[in-house]
Amino acid sequence: MFSTSRLKSKLPHVGTTIFTKMSRLAEEHQAINLAQGFPEFDCSPELQRLVDKYVKGGKNQYAPMAGVMSLREAISKKTWEASGHEYHPETEITITSGATEALYVAVSTIVNPGDEVVVFEPAYDSYVPVIELNGGVPVFVTLDAQYEAVDWNAVAAVITDKTVAIMINTPHNPTGNVWSQADMQRLAALAERHELYVISDEVYEHIVFDERKHIPAASIPALAARTFLCGSFGKTFHTTGWKLGYCLAPAALTAEFRKIHQFLVFSVVTPFQFAVAEYLNEPAHYLSLSAFYQEKRDLFLNAIDGIGFIAKPSQGSFFQNVSYENLTDQNDLILAERLTKEAKVASIPVSAFYSRPAGYKTLRFCFAKNDETLLRAAEKLRKVVW
Ligand code: PMP
Ligand code: GLN
Repeated sequence: MFSTSRLKSKLPHVGTTIFTKMSRLAEEHQAINLAQGFPEFDCSPELQRLVDKYVKGGKNQYAPMAGVMSLREAISKKTWEASGHEYHPETEITITSGATEALYVAVSTIVNPGDEVVVFEPAYDSYVPVIELNGGVPVFVTLDAQYEAVDWNAVAAVITDKTVAIMINTPHNPTGNVWSQADMQRLAALAERHELYVISDEVYEHIVFDERKHIPAASIPALAARTFLCGSFGKTFHTTGWKLGYCLAPAALTAEFRKIHQFLVFSVVTPFQFAVAEYLNEPAHYLSLSAFYQEKRDLFLNAIDGIGFIAKPSQGSFFQNVSYENLTDQNDLILAERLTKEAKVASIPVSAFYSRPAGYKTLRFCFAKNDETLLRAAEKLRKVVW
């Protein structure tokens, strides 16, 4: 029998992701799942028809390695309209298997053993393992769970001559914070001064609230020149299961990016690329998303009002963080499990987004759900005996 004694884990500290764990627990206890971030509703019938059209129309073989050209052109146009920066479809846009692959490949492209990468925490769960798989060292700038403001002096203080990159995420998962123009300018100045790459995770670009504007890294020339901008259609078109994303970067960076992308997946699902390309012709399909989700955020906030949570309204994304510090001292990892089992409402403990769980008393709720589901969840939370 083959012995696994020589198997040396490359990620010894990593277990199953918190999203998988909480979704499984929600299923097991038949709880309402406001944990893992995915919409409860389906994508539009028009988009479904387009997929059908291209599947039946024979678009079922390998796509070009960098992606279907009509999709790259549509992304170029959409990004130009949002940022004023033009990415060349031939040399600067790569279609990936979700933003997850884009982030993985971007990090792998620039991080060598011993390199340091600045990561803001709470951080999306894939960033740190991917840095570590490449021999890099994550260096944390810790923000509180309500993520009030970025302390740029703290960011400047962690940069050393080993720092190669800064990873950012706006609108932010899990806090829902949206970076201002001033934040993006501070980032640009710092990245320029220290000659750093930037990896910008903008998967929630089309979900921003209260008249805020998402500021793409592409809109600031000093950032566009050094940024791997990672996006996804999963959030934008309610199609998280399609795993269709992209990476935008200057040609020299894209050339190196594609060397890795081609051996990781080569290319991604062809008929869906054609369908999304055609669907992108109508900007209302994504420009209406903020208003759609703002109503859901407000419905959820109203529904949980009076329970005793402290909730700063989410500025973007489809997540609402709440502090329960006035209700109980319980650790959030334990409380999230208890609420799933007893109150039948699953959430994500925000400690899971930190390198060291430090007892943050905050839960993340996903409000990408039907109104009725959100109201039922709030009713259940209202009955909890803390
Ligand atoms: N970044 C963030 C901040 C996310 O919330 C997610 C997932 N939901 C991803 C990246 C991954 O996106 P995708 O599903 O397109 O791989
Ligand atoms: N991005 C989603 C979230 O934050 C989950 C994605 C996943 O399950 N990997 O909940």
